[in-house]
Amino acid sequence: MRHILTLNAGSSSIKFALFALEPDLVERVHGQIEGIGVEPHFLVKAPDGALLVDRPLAADATHAAALSGVLGWLEEQFADVEVEAVGHRVVHGGPRFTKPTVVDDTVVDILGAYVPLAPLHQPHNLAGVKAAREAFPKALQVACFDTAFHRSHPWVNDVYALPRSFYDRGVRRYGFHGLSYAYIVHKLWDVAPELVRGDIVVAHLGNGASMCGIHHGRPVSSTLGFSALDGLPMGTRCGDLDPGVILYLLQAEDMDTEQVQDLLYKQSGLLGLSGISSDMRTLTDSDAPEAAEAVQYFVYRIRREIGAMAAALGGLDGIVFTGGIGENSRLIRRHVCHDMDFFGIAIDDAKNEANAQDIAAAGARCRVMVLPTDEEAMIARDTASLLG
Ligand code: ADP
Repeated sequence: MRHILTLNAGSSSIKFALFALEPDLVERVHGQIEGIGVEPHFLVKAPDGALLVDRPLAADATHAAALSGVLGWLEEQFADVEVEAVGHRVVHGGPRFTKPTVVDDTVVDILGAYVPLAPLHQPHNLAGVKAAREAFPKALQVACFDTAFHRSHPWVNDVYALPRSFYDRGVRRYGFHGLSYAYIVHKLWDVAPELVRGDIVVAHLGNGASMCGIHHGRPVSSTLGFSALDGLPMGTRCGDLDPGVILYLLQAEDMDTEQVQDLLYKQSGLLGLSGISSDMRTLTDSDAPEAAEAVQYFVYRIRREIGAMAAALGGLDGIVFTGGIGENSRLIRRHVCHDMDFFGIAIDDAKNEANAQDIAAAGARCRVMVLPTDEEAMIARDTASLLG
């Protein structure tokens, strides 16, 4: 039977999903290896969430070993499976790629040239492409980009006020989490078409976090910019930072670029502020004042961006929460929406507690929705579109 495999090879995890083409896409399994480099763990679930595999892997399992483990397991379990295409999440498509693209040697070379734009993600994505090309030499390999959704931003939201030649050389606001935003827009056309025709802000709040202002289904602005560091504070990434701080670190604190990179990507954000954890659940369960302050800063930045995006959009008809935090944390949603009546935002506490799909209070002007994202489904759909 014809299948599509999706691969999302990240910095510490590899997520995958297998879809049958019947001819509509039907998921057969999804899973991940997480904790690579720390405590690798292999999990596979059936579409209904039933656990099929749940076991630790050797602590020294590398990305390559983890990936070949996933591919080997799939081959063992699904002997009848003909993998006709593999859809890859690729974080950076640079200025050039605006839609899903079949990967050949030339595309691999171009994507390799974008490694400096996403040094902590792109190499893993490309390692996934390489492994899948070897494992499934006959399958169509398709790159689905996190940046592609944002490529229709107006110029004013894409540019930095550097000399213009830097823009031409690729120093611009790319925006990320595009597969998640594309999935949410697609879902909204189903569940709330009147909302997607208006002005909305989608808050993708996970370990990586960003927000996107969307007008009639098309993105207008994003909190993530040139790199995956900008905007909201994340699990371990700093978010918005005065570039003067970086100069200060290099000049006055005598740090080298590697140390600064490590600080901004791996030691900052919720982890850096709390000194406790990068994990929101741990922080919201903690009694430590530092944990509460890290959460307070996270919420403050989201609220500030809602205001900025409403101004950029010229209105606000709805907010959509998604990502691990957005989908699950009643507390974060409650704090974000607290005292926002001036924007027409008010939530119904019971609906919020129940993680309902639509949590706005009766009569509130602005819709507030909670929608689980599904980047794997988006990758599969994009990949299938290239199969014809
Ligand atoms: P990634 O960006 O790695 O895909 P996820 O979207 O899975 O991340 O989100 C992970 C985050 O979601 C973690 O900070 C985790 O603590 C948080 N999270 C998951 N469930 C809850 C919950 N019930 N309450 C608060 N935070 C939660």
